[in-house]
Parts: sequence; structure tokens; C-alpha cells
Amino acid sequence: MTSIAVISDIHGNLHALEAVLEEIRRLRLREIICLGDIVGYGPFPGECLDLVMARCRHSVRGNHDEAAYNLAAAATFNGNALRAIRWTHETMRSDQLDLLRLLPEVTYVEEDVMCIHNCPVPGPSDYIHDSGMAARAFRGVDVRVCLVGHTHVPAVFEAPSANVEDYFKAADIAAFPLMDGQSLQLKAGRRYICNPGSVGQPRDNDPRASFGVLNTRRWTFTIRRVEYDIDAAQDATHAAGLPPILADRLALGA
Ligand code: ZN
Repeated sequence: MTSIAVISDIHGNLHALEAVLEEIRRLRLREIICLGDIVGYGPFPGECLDLVMARCRHSVRGNHDEAAYNLAAAATFNGNALRAIRWTHETMRSDQLDLLRLLPEVTYVEEDVMCIHNCPVPGPSDYIHDSGMAARAFRGVDVRVCLVGHTHVPAVFEAPSANVEDYFKAADIAAFPLMDGQSLQLKAGRRYICNPGSVGQPRDNDPRASFGVLNTRRWTFTIRRVEYDIDAAQDATHAAGLPPILADRLALGA
């Protein structure tokens, strides 16, 4: 398989997930990787999990997926995230919570691609937002490409060496924020951390659902944005009694 769709941070937003899956079908991409946070925040956690299980060849577990079956893992969540994850825990069936529990934390696809939700090295902050955070994260990247989610912001970080023994400073790492339709060539002799952005709760001021396409023959990573019915997703969030800010932010992409 040479072209792989990469989705992440769906967060129970079924309207966004269905729109992204439709676009993936239109692009004739048969293989999908999910980088976790299937649930949490949004009103359709079980429905999103069922779709991910049916359509994705691989999925890893995100921090919200873990907190859904183990509320103790939500200790660091803010108030709205905590309210939403308690609602998610009560809403999902026990067999669905068991499916989340069984998701791996890390997985490898093909020989050169590693998948993890947040960051390949544990640390005080596991959000790879900038070159400094990426420099630290590359210590855990032992293949050409590491796919991550978690920040809800599409981006690629490039390290100047393929040697896992090499350590980097922030200044060594190139950062590429990617907009809709933008593609980056993943050069030989380097390593990359690629983030497809978020399907269900984008935070880069573009409210459209985001996903990535990794081509492992030409070695490119491309970002795609998809319009979806934000009004319907907001209505469902309110109807579920979830915190109103979780609906408001969908229209802002923030
Ligand atoms: Zn997330």
C-alpha cells in the first residue's frame, strides 16, 4: 500500500468523521491509520469507535481513549474535558470501553512508519508544538517517519539525520505548518514527525476537519481539509448536555 490516509483526534465528532471518510473514499485511499483520541469532548463516542474499528487497519490509543475507561487518567484534564470524559464513560457500552483498552499505545506499519498518539518519549509535556519539543521527541523516533496527533494542529518536523544516535537542538529542526492541499517531500537521510491535525476538533483556526495522506512510495505527506456540518455537530453537543464551549470552539477551529 503506497498511499495511506492518516486520521487523528476525532473526539466523538461523528459529522466530521463521516465527512472525512467520504473524502478518503473519493480519493480511493483504501488504507487508514488512526492515531487515537477517538472519543472525548464530542457526543458520538461509540459511533465513532465503531466506524474506526470497521474502517481503519491500525489504531493507537490516545489519552482521552484511556481516560474513557480509566477515569483516574483524567486527573490532569481541565474542567470541560473532565465533564466530557465522565459523560463519555457513562455513555459508552462496556464492550466499547474494552475495545479502547485493547488498543496499542504504539504500532509500526510497513518498516519505516511508527504511530503514536502524543510523543515517542515520555516527559513533562508531550505536546510536540515546536522545534524544541520535536528535538526531544526525535530521540524516540527510530524509523523514517513518526506519525503523531494530540496537538490538533497539522505540521511536519524534520530532523537533519537518519541516525537515531544523533541528538538535536531546537535550531536543528525544521518546522513546516501545512495548510489544505500542501504537501511536503520526506527526503532520504532525514527523519520526520508528521501530524495530520484533528478530524473532530481542529485548533489551527481552520474549522474544517483535517487529515493527512502519507505516500510511502514517493515519500510525501499531504494535508487535506474537509467541510462538514458544524451546525449539526454543535446541535448534537448541546443536546447531549455537554459543556457549551465544546460546541462553540468547533466553529472557530480553536
Ligand atoms: Zn485530542
